Amino acid sequence: MPYRCQTCTKTLTEGSLSCGSCGKRFSVPVPSGEAPAGPFPAWPPQKSRQAKSGNSLINVSVGVLVVLGLIVACFFLFVVSQRPQQTSDGLDPQKQAAYINIGDDGYLSLRNGASDVDGASKVIVAATQDDETKLNDAAVAKDKVGYDNIVYGGGAYLIQNHTRAKLIGYGDGFTGATVYHVRIESGPFQDQDGWIPQEWFKK
Ligand SMILES: [Zn+2]
Repeated sequence: MPYRCQTCTKTLTEGSLSCGSCGKRFSVPVPSGEAPAGPFPAWPPQKSRQAKSGNSLINVSVGVLVVLGLIVACFFLFVVSQRPQQTSDGLDPQKQAAYINIGDDGYLSLRNGASDVDGASKVIVAATQDDETKLNDAAVAKDKVGYDNIVYGGGAYLIQNHTRAKLIGYGDGFTGATVYHVRIESGPFQDQDGWIPQEWFKK
């Protein structure tokens, strides 16, 4: 097939520097012989062929980068999702315990409303370590009457949530849990000491 004008598609004369039909000028004369096979054997040849393949290379690179980015993002989300559950204070209980030493100041903190009495945001602070154990046993046994008997029978103090306190000691609670011996540092129960589950004390 002979070469055809890129502009008007008319057949071109070999060796010509312009189209005989539309007058389009060429910087390179129309070659003699058959045009290479293609959808449209136009002259001058499409300059953008090289650029196009370059573009497609860039497109492939961008695609690869996007896929890699997604893989990295998924991996990051997976790692984040595998981290241990944290308390509302942003520390996991294990680590938090390590940060608190005897003599440290902190505050009483209800955890999941566990000791919230009648919605009044009061923390149940056991009078003695033995009372703390009994309170827990009653809670585990879902023995509400027994629990209330301890709470309202002198075995515990109902102290406002977030009251300042100091860690003055600790001991073993039920099933390997640690209980904290704290001294209240403000409010009506100032200087009173008592026992609470470790998680109810925050620095
Ligand atoms: Zn033409």
